[in-house]
Amino acid sequence: MEVSIAYSAKLLKEANNIVLTAHVHPDGDALGSLLALNAYLSAQGKQVRMLLDDEIPRTFKFLSDWEKVKKPDSSESQADLLVVLDSSDLERIGKVRDAVKAPILNLDHHISNLKFADYWYIDSQAAATGEIIVKLFKEVDAIITPSMATALFTAIATDCGFFRFANTSAETLIFASELVAAGAKPHIISEHLDTKPRAVIEVLPKVLETLEIVDCGQSGQIATLTLRQEILANLRDETEGFINYPRNIEGVEIAIMFKEADNNIRVSLRSRSADVSQIALAFGGGGHARAAGCTVTEPLNIAKRLIIEAAKKQLAKGFKIE
Ligand code: AMP
Ligand code: MN
Ligand code: MN
Repeated sequence: MEVSIAYSAKLLKEANNIVLTAHVHPDGDALGSLLALNAYLSAQGKQVRMLLDDEIPRTFKFLSDWEKVKKPDSSESQADLLVVLDSSDLERIGKVRDAVKAPILNLDHHISNLKFADYWYIDSQAAATGEIIVKLFKEVDAIITPSMATALFTAIATDCGFFRFANTSAETLIFASELVAAGAKPHIISEHLDTKPRAVIEVLPKVLETLEIVDCGQSGQIATLTLRQEILANLRDETEGFINYPRNIEGVEIAIMFKEADNNIRVSLRSRSADVSQIALAFGGGGHARAAGCTVTEPLNIAKRLIIEAAKKQLAKGFKIE
């Protein structure tokens, strides 16, 4: 059932034992939203647990309470409410799905959201789930501490490319301003996010060597990066940002990054104006018009061929989002 922010607040108020979760391969929005909501609910005296079926990336370990996020164990537990953040389908939360028995409230901003929850609030205009959490906090007059502000600023800023992407709205900037007033420090947050282990910078030539361009004439070009497992071994999954290199090439309409895992290929898609969420959805993934992803269970060369063919078709449609 579709619910409002006010109704979401009511559900949270009525629940005492609450589990919070977000998507696997967590990003700044998933973690920032999770940690901020946890801080608020804990301050309300609720019994709150944060469960995530993945490791916390090194980059986000400057956010308060990250170490309180636990992996689900095999035993099933009861709760009054399971809040699923920044996730467009239930697969995205991995094993948390089976580990917690509770009605689900889904707070999300993906256009591809499958409306899988018992209660959902989906705002595809929101730049980040963090914006939805800010609205929720306004609804309940929450006191936003500096660490909550830092988590929410991180959530919003990372999902809109630090206020440069098309999803950056006037409201995004107002919320960011309010979070800075509440104690978020943009320069410190950026410093944490931009600082990388030396190996991640040193591997860049090898990454850029894999650049391939597919020319689609009038419709523009498709540019790809391909990260084989050998390269990824030195990266410890710190590949965030690599896709901006092909994305920023003049004439490139769609950028794609293929990451080889043991049994599948993780695909990241970015575009200037073609709707890449359609491509991701067709392969069981999801996302936004200009940033989407999916996982393809095929060998690398087949996965590449399938995705590039789908991207060509999407480009040929000529449909452009604003
Ligand atoms: P990424 O390329 O991993 O940064 O993801 C870009 C966007 O697509 C994010 O909003 C993700 O939440 C979404 N996304 C990535 N992979 C998947 C997937 N397998 N299923 C659904 N959404 C995804
Ligand atoms: Mn996310
Ligand atoms: Mn998000």
